Amino acid sequence: MACQALPWIPRSVRCAPNQLTWEEVTHETHGPTAPSPIQVKARTWRRRVRSADMSISSDELVRRNAAFAATGAFAGLPFPTSDTLQVLGCVDSRVDPSDVLGLELGEGVVMRNIGGRITPATLRSWALLGRLGQGQPPRSGHLVILHHTDCGITRLTDYPEQLAAFFEIPADELESKAVADPYAAVRVDAAIARHTLPPSRLVSGLVYDVNTGLIEIVDPATQE
Ligand SMILES: [Zn+2]
Repeated sequence: MACQALPWIPRSVRCAPNQLTWEEVTHETHGPTAPSPIQVKARTWRRRVRSADMSISSDELVRRNAAFAATGAFAGLPFPTSDTLQVLGCVDSRVDPSDVLGLELGEGVVMRNIGGRITPATLRSWALLGRLGQGQPPRSGHLVILHHTDCGITRLTDYPEQLAAFFEIPADELESKAVADPYAAVRVDAAIARHTLPPSRLVSGLVYDVNTGLIEIVDPATQE
């Protein structure tokens, strides 16, 4: 079976030129049976990531989904509660929070937008999600704000009107959002989150370096 049969691993990792095949992975880790996602991730993450990716057809997605369904990893997962880890990240395909932070299926409620920024739209979505918790906003748990280096939002400063509309602020206030600096931006957003959410909710600001693959805790949760 080709590398496409490992859907929980980023395709760029699975299909790198020197990537292990399904048979090689299963033989080296568990014999003839399928390894758990955690064990596969631990091994394949040692490989270098290929840069570009081709467009993926619907048929290919169906094949990958079938392989995923065959693992049974989806079965019996509980509905997320207000205590479930919450992550706000960027839409960039290189920085999927589940991969960067090693989250397994069901471990995190992940929301993504351009830059992983806290905007009024983000806050409205969280408020609506809070209705799932018996009509109350989240009162516990951990919110991680994950920004990253080389973020595309830094290239959008040539479009101040659209960027201002994204943040729902006047264009002459854009500087307050620190769009060009992810380390400053994540502090800005962590401060907004702490001001907006109940004090019992932990808030962390992280920056992921796309060159090293490592995260830095720029703004740690105060109650940790
Ligand atoms: Zn980004």
